[in-house]
Amino acid sequence: MKNIKTDVLVIGAGPSGCVASAYLQANNIDVLVVEKSKFPRFVIGESLLPRCMDHFEEVGLLDCLKAEGFEVKSGARFIKGNKVCDFEFDKKFSPGWDWTWQVPRADFDHALTNELQRKGVSIYFEHEVVDVEFYKDGSSKTSLKDRNGVITVVEAKFVIDSSGHGRVLPRLLGLDKPSKIPKHSSLFTHVKDLRRPSSLEGTRITFDVINKDVWLWVIPFSNGITSLGLVGPTDYFEDFKGTTTEKLQQLMALSDFYNPRFKDIEYEFEPKMIKNISKSVTKLYGNGFALTGNSAEFLDPVFSSGVTFATESGLLAAKLAAKEITGEKVNWETDYKDYILSGVTVFSTYVSEWYTGNLQKIFFYDKISPSVKAQICSVLAGYVWDTTNPFVKNHHRLVKTLSKVIDLETEGNTD
Ligand code: FAD
Repeated sequence: MKNIKTDVLVIGAGPSGCVASAYLQANNIDVLVVEKSKFPRFVIGESLLPRCMDHFEEVGLLDCLKAEGFEVKSGARFIKGNKVCDFEFDKKFSPGWDWTWQVPRADFDHALTNELQRKGVSIYFEHEVVDVEFYKDGSSKTSLKDRNGVITVVEAKFVIDSSGHGRVLPRLLGLDKPSKIPKHSSLFTHVKDLRRPSSLEGTRITFDVINKDVWLWVIPFSNGITSLGLVGPTDYFEDFKGTTTEKLQQLMALSDFYNPRFKDIEYEFEPKMIKNISKSVTKLYGNGFALTGNSAEFLDPVFSSGVTFATESGLLAAKLAAKEITGEKVNWETDYKDYILSGVTVFSTYVSEWYTGNLQKIFFYDKISPSVKAQICSVLAGYVWDTTNPFVKNHHRLVKTLSKVIDLETEGNTD
């Protein structure tokens, strides 16, 4: 058994752990990243939001990503039957980035870890956290198991849990709680997009609404591969029989718009199913630790908020951990929990209102004012902490109210 000491232990080398550890290393805090997989590894979460570009830029990870030539994402398109709603990030209300990327995450996350290692951050790949013990002063001993079963114990002053779907500390410390978002599942794969149109239409991320509760994502990458996935109530998927390939073929046929392009196309891998996607926790921090990214909270894929939330929380947790380690007092309740939850609550309203149908009504209403659209566009770009935006500040009220106004305006209309 080996023993190692570090100031901060970061669990997981996804976007959240990478941004957190890049910040700590740049601020001369001793950091160790432990990652259970060998990279490159597949993970879902391929359409980013402009807000996360701020985080990569701040910690010096933007240039390595630019060098990868990922597909540029300058907006998002929603379609429902013959109705189309396009959001352009350069028309959004809040200042900030007006583009981002659509990325195969295996390559994206690998580019991040390569750059971290180049900067001198230690990453232990193929080391899985199997146990952790916290002491009164917030210090901890974490046990890692490598692929040969050899145990290493890491003594740390602080632990940032960025373990994504692994949810290491929520599991080990019993912090899981049921999410308020309805139980949704997802079925997805990649294809070689041989019939991709050459225009912008071919490269823009599209959400095709199959019905109020079920939608399809189409995310083209610059390497000719396109990601396809459906999201819907968990029960809905049970109505489709056969292998995951057969199920996805039946589901894809429901999209009038995409069926001609993806009919008969071979899937790059047997479609994967993730059941009951949304996750929540009873607390976001404790004595000696903070939860970030998917380990803390996951709502729903519908607005592609996962990576942005992961980098926002990873960066903030790292800043606060660095302060604490250098002897400054940190108020985790206000400076971490309250801040993070204020953004999560905004996204959560938009996710809920998507599935009530109110947001879909707004998106596909052709008389929506450009200023309202710009304010909603900022939310879709991830700027959910900008309280100068009425659609952030009054998120609980405005989506519902606008939906009712549309009902009144369209009363008597048959289309
Ligand atoms: P991850 O990226 O999951 O990284 C966590 C890392 O921790 C992994 O590498 C894992 O191997 C490692 N780990 C796990 N357990 C252990 C352990 N015991 N010891 C050591 N290491 C461990 N988000 C978007 O932004 N855009 C999208 O389009 C999008 N689509 C999605 C579609 C679906 C169906 C789902 C389910 C999610 C989607 N997401 C999307 C969310 C996205 O997947 C996550 O929010 C994002 O990957 C979270 O990043 P992270 O850094 O927190 O965790």
